Amino acid sequence: MKVINLDSSYELTQAQISFAESVMSFDRPYRLDKEYPCISLLTEHIPVYLFSEKSMPVDSLKYADDENEYLIHNDQTTLATPATDWLGFYQNRTSIYGVDTPIIGICPERIIRCVKNDEELILLIAKVIVHEFAHAQMNFHPRDSRHSNAYYNPVDLFYKWMEEPMANVITLERFYYFTTSYSAGFTFAKCSLTPTLINPFDYVKDFINRQPNNYRLGLDFYNQRFWKWWEWRNNKALISLKVTEKADWLNYVRLNVGGTTTKSDLERLFNALK
Ligand SMILES: [Zn+2]
Repeated sequence: MKVINLDSSYELTQAQISFAESVMSFDRPYRLDKEYPCISLLTEHIPVYLFSEKSMPVDSLKYADDENEYLIHNDQTTLATPATDWLGFYQNRTSIYGVDTPIIGICPERIIRCVKNDEELILLIAKVIVHEFAHAQMNFHPRDSRHSNAYYNPVDLFYKWMEEPMANVITLERFYYFTTSYSAGFTFAKCSLTPTLINPFDYVKDFINRQPNNYRLGLDFYNQRFWKWWEWRNNKALISLKVTEKADWLNYVRLNVGGTTTKSDLERLFNALK
């Protein structure tokens, strides 16, 4: 993973970088055989820039569904956590020296404000980086050189309630495999830098559970075993035209997020979109 400090007053430590790389290295092997660009491959090609707060180009209000959730977060008396994309972002086309290239940016200053200690910091930095690489994963299709569906990224309400929970369910999956493999003793050498007091998967689950509802929906997807992110990626342009079916999806997930979604309802509504 290439980390480049643009203008942040904070540098990532080698331990923080190695931890994030370790989480992303736990791809399921069969994915290499199908139509998945694995995240660990993308990390070799997409740089991660560190931005100061004033240089962050996007605002979480663009991504979080409920403005109140964002405002509540700024009141330090609550336990709410912000939209991941307030802490970092993915851009599929950024012009650098005249060349269009995808980049990931993170804002260490904002991430630090969301953690209680160094151990949480290493976990949240990894969580944000994995979430942003998950967006990248949903922007590339190995067999579609034009990425015609994957590049369709209008940030409308439906996108917020489909792309964001999908990015979080990919993140949860990566942390699950990392945490279970690590605790089972199948450790890579670099995992020895990993702090062990907090269970990484439990931390990420708890963080997502306190995020704005459209992000929190990713935890529902995980709990319901609703794995459809590659179908979303393959059909984004087509799905964008399904006005009625998009409204049905939104009505259901906004009403049921946080515990009353079911796998059969999610699959029925999702299949109607394709
Ligand atoms: Zn996101």
